[in-house]
Amino acid sequence: MAIATLNPTTGIVEREFAPHTPDQIELILSRASAANATMRSTTFAERAGWMHRAADLMDADLDRLAALAATEMGKTIATAKYEIGKSANGMRHYADNAERYLADETPVEPSTVGASRARVVHQPLGTVLAVMPWNYPFWQVIRFAAPALMAGNTGLLKHASSVPQVALYLGELFERAGFPTGAFQTLLIEGAAASRLIDDRRIAAVTLTGSVGAGSAVAEAAGRNIKKSVLELGGTDAFIVMPSADVARAAEFGANSRTQNSGQSCICAKRFYVHTDVYDEWFPLFLEKMRSTLPGDPFADGTGFGPMATEQVRAEAHELVEDAKAHGVTVHTGGDLPAGPGWFYPATVLTGVTPDMRIYREECFGPVACVYRVESLEEAVDLANDSEFGLAASVWTGDQAEIDALQDSLQFGAVFANGNSASFFGMPFGGVKDSGYGRELAGNGIREFVNVKTLWQA
Ligand code: NAP
Repeated sequence: MAIATLNPTTGIVEREFAPHTPDQIELILSRASAANATMRSTTFAERAGWMHRAADLMDADLDRLAALAATEMGKTIATAKYEIGKSANGMRHYADNAERYLADETPVEPSTVGASRARVVHQPLGTVLAVMPWNYPFWQVIRFAAPALMAGNTGLLKHASSVPQVALYLGELFERAGFPTGAFQTLLIEGAAASRLIDDRRIAAVTLTGSVGAGSAVAEAAGRNIKKSVLELGGTDAFIVMPSADVARAAEFGANSRTQNSGQSCICAKRFYVHTDVYDEWFPLFLEKMRSTLPGDPFADGTGFGPMATEQVRAEAHELVEDAKAHGVTVHTGGDLPAGPGWFYPATVLTGVTPDMRIYREECFGPVACVYRVESLEEAVDLANDSEFGLAASVWTGDQAEIDALQDSLQFGAVFANGNSASFFGMPFGGVKDSGYGRELAGNGIREFVNVKTLWQA
């Protein structure tokens, strides 16, 4: 895939970038390697000061950065501003909490292990390669970069080829804020080149957010080299509505979840399981909200959602809808490719989805909802768990016993009750099954890329 800014609203290539040459890559790697020693000698307080400054710089650049995201991947200005604000606050969270998250520990009374002193400290691993997707081009990177840098690591960003200007901005941000030269840099390279880079001894670990295919390529290279990896992959998140739910709210939030970011979010609801007792009340409300949430110009006020990020992502989503149509699915709204320039796709609602349709199992990275009527909580749980993915689920019920049962039995990395799935700085984020392994955010995220070092003294 070419490294280029291809505006998804117009389909026009606005800027192209040559991939870094082997010499440039070598220079970037050696700078990162040299920066590790400098970073290890810095204090939490110094790093926190720089991290706060980086957050302030992002806030100051808000309008320019929102326009960049809208131009490179089509998200609306309002949602881009929300993402950039969240990224800045995520940096502040780690600036203020990293030292506490990585505090030394005394897990046992030293004498019980025959020691006069026994403790555990957390030291940086070195250079971590981050392979990142375009869908939240700032937030996905920051939720890696902020903890990694606060732990004293250095970072190399291989961003998606479709967001090079965001990548270059982030590659300069941390040095502008005061971090040592080489602490965080961007590599303009294509996907396969990133996997090969993992063989380099100067890369200590790797994290990837993206598809299952890219994740397994990176994990394979990391495994071959015995390097730590974290994978945040896809999701086909379940949304369960039970009879005691606030039905109107569950309809509105469900549609918001499915159309947010043009449906291109790993944790937006994709499979809706609605109890038969409230199905006939919930479905028309949901359908109306989906119908009235319209795609449009990401720069215009009031646009429901922007175009899809690339022609390929739209083609993949539409292919799943066409396959379902060929197998007899019912399309209540949407489902057709609009005419005209840009990679727009309408909010789409499907019922009658059966296991012989690809969309029953595969992730649809577009605003397409699959709705199922269920007879019981048990049936909802069985269907929700019948997936290769396990990122997040959202359940809607006024019954605490049902919340407890659903949160216990759903096989996902997170289960939200009466609220949409989301990420929070202070709560771990990640999945099970094909959704990946390892966690981002909170203390769990910052401890993924440290040497948990045991110190024992007779
Ligand atoms: P993608 O094609 O996997 O791309 C993600 C990143 O991986 C890009 O930087 C891409 O580079 C790179 N890449 C592709 N092939 C690679 C390879 N063989 N080796 C190393 N790197 C490689 O995914 P996408 O289509 O952009 O993003 C959508 C997917 O990401 C969905 O499945 C979505 O659910 C998932 N996602 C997950 C999370 C989460 O937190 N769990 C969050 C967001 C998205 P190029 O751009 O150069 O190809």
